[in-house]
Amino acid sequence: MTAGHPTGARDLAPVIVWFRQDLRLSDNPALHAAAAAGRPVIPLYILDRESAGAWAPGGASRWWLHHSLEALSRSLASQGLRLVLRRGAAGPVLERLIAETGARGVYWNRLYEPWAIRRDDAIRAALQAAGVAIESFNAALLFEPWEIATKGGAPYRVFTPFWRACLAAEPPAPPLPVPAFAGPAAAATVESETLDTWALLPVAPDWAGGLRAAWQPGEAAAQRLLRGFLETGLAGYEAERDRPDLVSTSRLSPYLHFGEIGPRQVWHAIYGLSAVGDGEADAGPRKFLAELGWREFSYHLLHHFPDLTEAPLQPRFADFPWEENPEALRVWQQGKTGYPFVDAGMRQLWQTGWMHNRLRMVTASFLVKHLLIPWQDGAAWFWDTLVDADLANNSGGWQWVAGCGADGAPYFRIFNPVAQGEKFDPQGEYVRRYVPELAGLPDRWIHRPWEAPPEVLHAAGVRLGESYPRPVVDHAAARRAALAAYEAVKGG
Ligand SMILES: Cc1cc2nc3c(=O)[nH]c(=O)nc-3n(C[C@H](O)[C@H](O)[C@H](O)COP(=O)(O)OP(=O)(O)OC[C@H]3O[C@@H](n4cnc5c(N)ncnc54)[C@H](O)[C@@H]3O)c2cc1C
Repeated sequence: MTAGHPTGARDLAPVIVWFRQDLRLSDNPALHAAAAAGRPVIPLYILDRESAGAWAPGGASRWWLHHSLEALSRSLASQGLRLVLRRGAAGPVLERLIAETGARGVYWNRLYEPWAIRRDDAIRAALQAAGVAIESFNAALLFEPWEIATKGGAPYRVFTPFWRACLAAEPPAPPLPVPAFAGPAAAATVESETLDTWALLPVAPDWAGGLRAAWQPGEAAAQRLLRGFLETGLAGYEAERDRPDLVSTSRLSPYLHFGEIGPRQVWHAIYGLSAVGDGEADAGPRKFLAELGWREFSYHLLHHFPDLTEAPLQPRFADFPWEENPEALRVWQQGKTGYPFVDAGMRQLWQTGWMHNRLRMVTASFLVKHLLIPWQDGAAWFWDTLVDADLANNSGGWQWVAGCGADGAPYFRIFNPVAQGEKFDPQGEYVRRYVPELAGLPDRWIHRPWEAPPEVLHAAGVRLGESYPRPVVDHAAARRAALAAYEAVKGG
């Protein structure tokens, strides 16, 4: 491959900024460095399904990506830059663009998915051999996964000491502003595909109405959401974060996944309010930062244990007697298990592309422990339906629930879906929102309709087995079966 440009023009040779999961202008170190180089900047996004394979974005993520790229394109245009869109395996796409433009540098912010690391390492080697300067940066994490290690230099496998080590490390650098682009404009003639031809949005059927109603992707929306959360959500976060019936969490997850906001920006916004100490008054900020810490921990695990996405971290779980049960899997996916709290979670996911964390734990536990279906099947469904589908967090979350991960809930602790509902959705408002066919039931029966007297069901217009299903499994029997299955791997 040759970069093909006249030597005399070297100083004005453009730099390509390859956007990936960093779809923002502020606190974007790759963009910042390119702007500082004073050369023409070519912003590029590559839709590279080839390299991602099974981990190419699912349906809900594609919807988000479309709108996120639109927003990024508008922000770049306001700075006089044009986002170039190309499709295909990233290596050859970059080589072609370099040959077309005479670019002498490619800057990007690092990704941590194993497939992306393999691809990026190969691209770096090939381009450097061709004399192209490659610069990569950290835009996605507070701490690089390899920077935090035990005293013995090993990776952490337990969250609490991991997060303690993070908090004792050098704090993350302050976020960078939107850069000023002083260099000459890159040729406006660089060819770009159009977003519409990528067909990221669903048509026939267009199932994205609920996503449109719930979300506005993009950097500006992420900043607004963060500001609103700091004003009204952060102080009560510790006390209310487990309540899906309230707006009790930040909902920043898709923005963090796509890099429309960076964790350093969130971290510094919180510390900008005040120091975060050990006192009761700081419980909200401290807990919220710890949740960002779980995100860091997932990336730490994925970096050190790249099989996290498919294989149990605890090898003994490889022999777990999972069951093949496509019908039960379908019932779970559709939110028709007959357990209202579980069904509300699965329907929130389907309608809005997001599910409250408490429900992610309860629905995942139900699949793995009540239905004995492999966690990988659940993770695949989440991958397709979540707007925040994130390889590190999703794999880490599922392994945690299944009890086969690094620092997981023990397998034998089995959530009771009724008790969970009664505790975290005490008036049943969350269930009524997503399972409207039960809306007429009194609070007392909303989480256990099969126990309601016939006249109560009748008055509420509920016909069990017709308008709403009977439980797909009996909780007590499912619990016994799960514990028996666990015996098979327990000692290993
Ligand atoms: C089975 C399962 C699957 C999950 N899949 C994903 C996923 O694909 N993508 C994803 O971003 N999160 C995932 N999570 C973690 C968590 O449920 C979501 O990050 C959270 O619900 C997002 O809502 P929020 O932004 O309002 O969170 P907040 O409570 O406001 O937390 C702020 C941020 O911290 C991070 N965070 C919070 N909780 C966790 C956690 N337990 N693990 C890792 N990071 C966390 C997220 O980036 C989140 O945006 C999963 C959890 C489970 C149990």
